[in-house]
Formats: sequence, C-alpha cells, structure tokens
Amino acid sequence: MAIRTILRYPDKRLRNKALPVTAFDDSLRALVDDMAETMYAAPGVGLAAPQICVSLRLFVIDIAGEDEPSDLKVFINPTFTAKQGEIAWEEGCLSFPGIHEEIERAEKVTVRAQDVHGNFFEVTADGLLAVALQHEYDHLEGTLMVDRVSLLKRRFIDREMKRRQLSDARP
Ligand code: ZN
Repeated sequence: MAIRTILRYPDKRLRNKALPVTAFDDSLRALVDDMAETMYAAPGVGLAAPQICVSLRLFVIDIAGEDEPSDLKVFINPTFTAKQGEIAWEEGCLSFPGIHEEIERAEKVTVRAQDVHGNFFEVTADGLLAVALQHEYDHLEGTLMVDRVSLLKRRFIDREMKRRQLSDARP
C-alpha cells in the first residue's frame, strides 16, 4: 500500500475522461488499496482514480463519522440508473484543498457499479452519500466543482488556487 500524490486544480490531467475498468485483477485491488490509504491520509470522504492520475472509472467513498468504524465503499464503472429531487450541499474536494462551495445535486440517486471482483451491485443513497457519489462520478467525466458554481465563484476559486500554488512553491 502506498499514499499517492493527489492532483490539484488547475492540473489539466483532472480534465481527462476516464476509461472503463476491464481487468479485475491484483493490480486493480492494489490500486483500490492505495486509493483508500490516500483518501484516509488526506483525510477525505471520497477519492476518484483520476485524482491520483489514473484515468480509470472507479472511486472510493467512506462517509463514516470520526467516531464510527470505517465503511469503505468501492464503485467501479459506475452509472446512475435513477436520480430524483434537488439538494444544495457544501462540498469540498481533495483537488481543491481548503475550498468549500455549495453545489446543487440530485437529492437521491441509484448507482449501478461493479466491485473489485467484477460483480455488479446497485445502491440507492440520499444525503451525504448521494452527494459524494455524484461528486466522485464527476471526476470520471473530467468535471470539477468549479464547473458547477457561478462564474463569480469560479473566478474566486481560480484566484485562490493560484495563490496557494505560488505559496506552496516557495521554500
Ligand atoms: Zn473531488
């Protein structure tokens, strides 16, 4: 297991549309282990493969609270089979450290995906899990939270991320 480097906005590699997972083998399981370790170390509630520069359609989510046992969920080749309602949620993203923006999403979603063995399963979720599923799915399409906020907020985030990039680069 290893902690991978998380790409940060505006890294262009975050914009690639990810490819389907076709091999459900040991290297996929090793990748999932690394993604989980990277997400927990960050810490974050979700991480998509494109965020660690792996252009494949999978993500991990764990929305368990600090006092709850971990509850890792892995979604491979996910698709939404149903979406309903509307909810506004303040979201963060490991590729936008320190940025939190309210974003509108479907309130309830049903996702069909595969597990690490290639078996299909379906999950219906609302609340934080529904939001996390939609957020992580966006990463597979190369869509980022800046694409879902107003132009004004997008400019603010652009400035903020550039400023941080500069201050991170200083010794
Ligand atoms: Zn994200």
